[in-house]
Amino acid sequence: MDIEQFRKAGYQAIDRICDYYYSLHERPVIAQVKPGYLRRALPSSAPEKGEDFQHVADDYQRLILPGLTHWQHPSFFAYFPTACTFEGLLADLYSSSTCNPGFNWLSSPACTELEAVMMDWAAQLLGLSSAFFNSSGIGGGVIMTTASDSALTAVVAARSLYLRRHPETRHEDLVIYTTSQTHSLGAKAGLVLGLSTRALEVTADDNFGLRGETLRHAFLEDKKDGKKPFVLIATVGTTSSGAIDYLPEIEVVVRDHPSLWVHIDAAWAGMSFSCPEYREMGYLDSINNFAHSFCTNFHKWGLTNFDASSLWIRDRKSLTDALDSTPEYLRTKQGDEGTVIDYRNWHLGLGRRFRSLKIWFVFRSFGVQGIQKYIRRTIELNNKFASMIRSSSQFALVTPPSYALSVFRLEPKGIEQSNVESLNNLNRLFYERISARSDILLTRTELNGIFCIRFAVGAARTDETHIQRAFDLLCTEAESAIRTFEN
Ligand code: PLP
Repeated sequence: MDIEQFRKAGYQAIDRICDYYYSLHERPVIAQVKPGYLRRALPSSAPEKGEDFQHVADDYQRLILPGLTHWQHPSFFAYFPTACTFEGLLADLYSSSTCNPGFNWLSSPACTELEAVMMDWAAQLLGLSSAFFNSSGIGGGVIMTTASDSALTAVVAARSLYLRRHPETRHEDLVIYTTSQTHSLGAKAGLVLGLSTRALEVTADDNFGLRGETLRHAFLEDKKDGKKPFVLIATVGTTSSGAIDYLPEIEVVVRDHPSLWVHIDAAWAGMSFSCPEYREMGYLDSINNFAHSFCTNFHKWGLTNFDASSLWIRDRKSLTDALDSTPEYLRTKQGDEGTVIDYRNWHLGLGRRFRSLKIWFVFRSFGVQGIQKYIRRTIELNNKFASMIRSSSQFALVTPPSYALSVFRLEPKGIEQSNVESLNNLNRLFYERISARSDILLTRTELNGIFCIRFAVGAARTDETHIQRAFDLLCTEAESAIRTFEN
């Protein structure tokens, strides 16, 4: 393809993307294809000779689009959102057009410098302490692929710091603390690093948040056994129910155990800090006082196209001490002089995408107020959904609504409520019916043995009519599920 052919194909691609967005609400939310559909449709090997690009572009429409689940669909209420924007999309196009793996400052100064400034803008947006700003020269922010990468990187830095302070420690005694509600990223970090993890218990009475006393007790037990807990992954906004660990209590316990690194995983809920009224609820003051690292995903609830996970660290040296590896071929004058950030030493990979461009485009186009408006609107929509659930005689909230997430289930009058398994079976039946539909998507979870359904608001195009429609559909499916269950 030459430049003029690219111009033509590019215009067509933009036209087709616009048509896609115009028709999005009419499409099934979830792909209506069977496993193996694409292998059956594609040739068994790559073509010997290059093809006309128009055929390739047409096959994207014909074969790929039907196999996609539409996360931007206004009736997508599953998982957590990946709210994307045209501004972010255009930034990805520009960034892809220069295809630049800016790992060192010198390999593309704009990539490093924009990222350092964007992470400071983002830290200010969220109300993070200036200790986390890149401009502090001590702490700093870096854009990662995912929250799982961010957590793994934080655990690597924590382990390295712990071993430097306690060189006598045996690898097998090291323990990563999570809770039973921590995202699987905690267990995964343990698997990757060959370290034990201990999931601390949380209870429904505490809304599934970790209490300080539970942490203190675990420390005492582990100390007796010669174990060395060196990092806690605490969460603001867990995946299952949006739970928030009790950070002020944890802060008090950590004062007595200063070797414990606390990483805050706020992959989804962290964006709520952009609205001052949600800072207290997520214990931002505690995070600013004592957390060693903090992660939130701009690609979830931050209007930025996947991927853009932001990690802030209080002491960047703890990252570079663990991860700096500089062979001769990567040395640069500026890196040797220490006058620039070389982000390759802040994470596992070397090459990196130019992700700060999309955060810049989003900040410039929406402004702080635009981002706040979006966050508040999605929380408001979820509050509307939660109040419909509350006022219904069929449904019950399993936990209080958290930000833009409601966790609910069927608890109809006239059906025995004390038999947990029987009620779970009714809810499984109900969920099966919902997930057989193509016009809405919700996901399921389990909280201490209770099967429940999650409703997460966040797609940028969701409005009140979609919430009402979702609730009406749920009522219809509930009635059918109850009828089937009773027969
Ligand atoms: N942490 C929480 C609380 C999440 O809800 C999720 C995903 O939904 C993750 C981490 C994982 O995010 P990522 O896909 O960026 O690793």
